[in-house]
Amino acid sequence: MNSFLLENVEIGHFSGYKTQVFGDYFSEIISEDDLSKLQKAYHFSIENNLPFLIIGGGTNMLFVNDHFEGVVVKNSFSTWNYATEKKILNAWSNESIWKIAQKLEEEYSQDIWHRFIGLPGSLGGAIYGNAGCFGLEVESNFLSCEVFDMLSGIRKTLSKNDMDFSYRHSYLKDHPELFLLSATFDFSEKREKYHSDVDNIDFRENKQPKGNSCGSFFKNPSREVSAGFLIEKVWLKWYHHGWAYWSDLHANFLMSEGESCRPSDLLELVRLTQKKVQDETWYELVNEVRIIENKK
Ligand SMILES: Cc1cc2nc3c(=O)[nH]c(=O)nc-3n(C[C@H](O)[C@H](O)[C@H](O)COP(=O)(O)OP(=O)(O)OC[C@H]3O[C@@H](n4cnc5c(N)ncnc54)[C@H](O)[C@@H]3O)c2cc1C
Repeated sequence: MNSFLLENVEIGHFSGYKTQVFGDYFSEIISEDDLSKLQKAYHFSIENNLPFLIIGGGTNMLFVNDHFEGVVVKNSFSTWNYATEKKILNAWSNESIWKIAQKLEEEYSQDIWHRFIGLPGSLGGAIYGNAGCFGLEVESNFLSCEVFDMLSGIRKTLSKNDMDFSYRHSYLKDHPELFLLSATFDFSEKREKYHSDVDNIDFRENKQPKGNSCGSFFKNPSREVSAGFLIEKVWLKWYHHGWAYWSDLHANFLMSEGESCRPSDLLELVRLTQKKVQDETWYELVNEVRIIENKK
């Protein structure tokens, strides 16, 4: 068919849920030399009216069909550097945010990103969803990023203002034609949404469920009312549906038994939980994890 896309490739292992899913068309982007391949893949999806999906670390996406009828691009752009005097970090989008945070501390005594130690996924995914933990968000020290417009083939720099960050939101969510290449952060000053003394290393090690998951599934309706509290309130904590379940350690962690779990087990559990919470508490639970579904 064409030289820039592979056909029928297993992509489920990229997602935190580890269910078995095949993608119709697949490509991996490793270096800047691959940008024309990336643009061709995007145009192919438009010409054939197919959904287009970028995968970073896969720790925030749920496939709900065992076959994804679309074009999947796995981002593998990595490497980063830190300018010690200016306190400026520049990183490519598929670097692990956890690894950068840890190395900044160990090698440069820079602990502003301490709370990101233990946060799974890539920098690109974290910027896309403005990931945050214990009061620290990706937007806090964000300076700018470089994106590749897959429609026009033009590279652009976006400032923090352009990125329109808010709770688990960025400009990229509204612009599927933009592929995030790299980002720059300014560590000259500590900035945070709110202060927290939580020991994040202990939390990740001992209080966070282990197994196949994408972390918290729903957004918290407010700081006072958490999604986990609502799931517990309607007696669904540790509830199993097929091979999918809500964790007994943290009720908002949707878990899967890997390849034994059907993607539909996960979606059905999500839908029944939203309904029960809505019926019994009037709260509407909105997913934080991206649900990837074929066109009807
Ligand atoms: C155990 C566990 C704990 C977690 N704890 C937290 C937490 O405390 N706080 C929190 O916010 N999240 C948490 N998460 C969720 C997850 O780690 C974050 O959302 C993470 O930032 C997602 O990054 P990713 O690379 O895995 O994204 P992916 O799942 O690969 O992608 C997420 C979205 O970003 C888009 N995307 C990825 N890369 C690019 C790119 N280069 N250009 C354009 N779009 C792109 C994808 O298309 C997709 O829509 C947790 C997950 C797990 C498994």
